[in-house]
Amino acid sequence: MHRFYVTEEQLVGGCVRFNPAQVRQIIRVLRMRVGSRVLAFNGSGQEWEVEIATSSPREVVGRIVAEVSMARESPLRIVLLQGLLKGDKMDYLIQKVTEMGVAEVVLLSTRRTVAQGSGRVARWSRIALEAAEQSGRLTVPRLTGPYRLEEEYFAGPAAGAAIVLWEGERVGTFAEVLGGASPPNEIRMLVGPEGGLEADEVGLLREKGFVPVSLGPRTLRAETAAVAALAVLQHRWGDLR
Ligand code: SAH
Repeated sequence: MHRFYVTEEQLVGGCVRFNPAQVRQIIRVLRMRVGSRVLAFNGSGQEWEVEIATSSPREVVGRIVAEVSMARESPLRIVLLQGLLKGDKMDYLIQKVTEMGVAEVVLLSTRRTVAQGSGRVARWSRIALEAAEQSGRLTVPRLTGPYRLEEEYFAGPAAGAAIVLWEGERVGTFAEVLGGASPPNEIRMLVGPEGGLEADEVGLLREKGFVPVSLGPRTLRAETAAVAALAVLQHRWGDLR
């Protein structure tokens, strides 16, 4: 069933007032009629089954017929700190990490990032929203930044666990990090840009409580590393059993 992200303003008295883009999709693309059913979710954990009650080329209103409560948000809150990638690689990464259940993406400008992220945060937020709609998520990952490593964002030690995936790491393994008995409430995971992370950047992160972790002997693209690490974390402490 098609899913639509709706804002609180669109929810009025047990009904959903679809916005112009959604009306176009419902009427023209999906060719839905009165009586058809869709899903609507508000991005903060609630989702409803909605029956089209009135429809015209310019307005579609649905009536909420049931609240859907499928647990599709991981119990593990993962914050990905991602060095800015060039071109559409970042688009791809945002889409994939949303599907993998990340809660927040903190954009990073590091020593070797060449991309300027600030102009594309709106685009990436839209990609995250569309990937949340497609993957059945009840919340949409938040995008913040871009920050530099030296900024205050890294001031305090990590609240929960914090790892930095480093291609130069030869000792620290995921097994050691995951070996910890109880699952953390939140884990921060840092992935570098295409050019990688410099040793002194990793040193700075280590001082902030980030544990360097290797993803094995092969050098992965950042977008591969992020997805692979998320799969491991969701399997160990999340909802990918
Ligand atoms: N340009 C670098 C690779 C950077 S890959 C080089 O050729 O050596 C981009 C990011 O993916 C890295 O900064 C790191 O965060 C992650 N990554 C890639 N392979 C990894 C590995 N084997 N172990 C840990 N992290 C890895």
